[in-house]
Amino acid sequence: MTEIAPYWQNYIDGSWTDGGAGRLTVDDPGSGEVLAEQALADATDVDRAVQAAKRCHESGVLTDMRPLERGRLVQGMAVWFRDHADEIATVLTREQGKPFWEAKGEVENAAKYFEYFGNQASTVEGKSIPLGAGYIDYTVPEPYGVSAQIIPWNFPLEIAARSIACGIATGNTCVVKSSEMTPLSSSYFARAGEAVGLPKGALNVLTGLGGEAGAALAGHPDIDQIVFTGSVATGQRIAAAAANSVIPCVLELGGKSAAIVHEDADLDAFEASVRKGIFINAGQVCSAMSRIVAHPKVHDEIADRIVSLAKSLSVGPGIERTEFGANMGPMISVKQRDRAVGMVAQAEADGASAATGGRALNLPGSFMEPTLMTGVTPDMQIAQEEVFGPVVSLMRYGDEADAIRIANGTQYGLVAGVFTRDLDRAGRAAGKLRAGQVFVNEWFAGGIETPFGGYGKSGYGREKGREALWNYVQTKNVAIRLG
Ligand code: NAD
Repeated sequence: MTEIAPYWQNYIDGSWTDGGAGRLTVDDPGSGEVLAEQALADATDVDRAVQAAKRCHESGVLTDMRPLERGRLVQGMAVWFRDHADEIATVLTREQGKPFWEAKGEVENAAKYFEYFGNQASTVEGKSIPLGAGYIDYTVPEPYGVSAQIIPWNFPLEIAARSIACGIATGNTCVVKSSEMTPLSSSYFARAGEAVGLPKGALNVLTGLGGEAGAALAGHPDIDQIVFTGSVATGQRIAAAAANSVIPCVLELGGKSAAIVHEDADLDAFEASVRKGIFINAGQVCSAMSRIVAHPKVHDEIADRIVSLAKSLSVGPGIERTEFGANMGPMISVKQRDRAVGMVAQAEADGASAATGGRALNLPGSFMEPTLMTGVTPDMQIAQEEVFGPVVSLMRYGDEADAIRIANGTQYGLVAGVFTRDLDRAGRAAGKLRAGQVFVNEWFAGGIETPFGGYGKSGYGREKGREALWNYVQTKNVAIRLG
């Protein structure tokens, strides 16, 4: 069993360092006990990190390197992550709560991002543009410079891995601000970077409070691009800071994603999708299946199946079970758990019922029962706002158009799903659903290779897939008059 060190530092300009804002206590949501202390960065630390990243960028050490070689460094981080998977997953489970088997999956996905984007470093190509005799014209995709990356707590490794991998593969330097809820596992990025020989200043990883270090980073005059994943409210602040500096940003914000289930759906397959769609990571997933819009003929069977599924899950500290699919862990904090329980109580007051779950568990830590809400109507708060917990709302639709209207009827548009054996019907739905990604017959059917991002208040820009790389480069055109 991995011992958790009592104190963890930030990594700035190639050195491990204390924080100007002191220390932060990190709790274990699976036990409610203190896990470790983390150095807390202040605005001065952020400035040091940005200056280090800027120096590294301007030195040309990354930009002059052959992209194939840069890609090899990024791929090396994948190997390092896989070699240390048990240790990293243990730390992730202890600070974030997700079951150990899920944490192992997250470490593997982080490694896959390094592998996938590392492999693509030399494929970020420009093009030549015909201008007629006497001219040569070509474009060069160039890195922006310093990429500021602000990370949430729900998938701290996957989300940071994809932006670090894209950033370095395309020749940017990175300043990563991890979430104050999950700082410990993020330090492994710095260790991996050190192990593969990233140049000093190429990757800086620090933790600080959002309103202090986060705001200082987003508003820093020497950053050149921002990648943010988190809440809509913070995303709006980040976008305002980016607008003020006239730099681009990528925003991955929340979601209230719906699965439409038609009467001909394979309900066994759908049930498997519910397991991962809403009960993985205790539902703290931006692309969670938080709403189900069902044909009246299958509504009751779906309700029965989800009640049985929820009751079959053992809920307890994530570190205790290692078998795949065995259990559901705690939520990230008592505050988040109580917010989710409060939203269930509000839904009950609005006329919905908890067919199963809905309450906090009487265990140390921050556990909530897996929950199904029935009798939900599309206008209720529970059907409109993100719970970010293990709570799914079941609704009935009238006809196909009504199903689409309900699915599209929130401010969000991250992902959506349709379950039917009729591919024509699925294709019609895919065209009409207002979401950045549509799953047909399997929730999360995409992967690291498929572009991911939101419509509406779910944000803009795309992470994952080759498309993501283009967020990290700007086009230079070179026009040459010959002779
Ligand atoms: P959050 O927006 O509060 O925090 C995300 C990150 O932003 C953290 O690192 C935080 O320190 C930082 N931050 C906070 N205030 C800041 C500021 N003023 N300036 C700069 N940085 C700041 O979100 P959270 O509490 O980590 O997650 C909760 C919500 O985020 C969820 O309810 C969900 O909506 C959303 N979320 C979305 C995704 C996604 O991929 N779309 C993923 C995780 C979380």
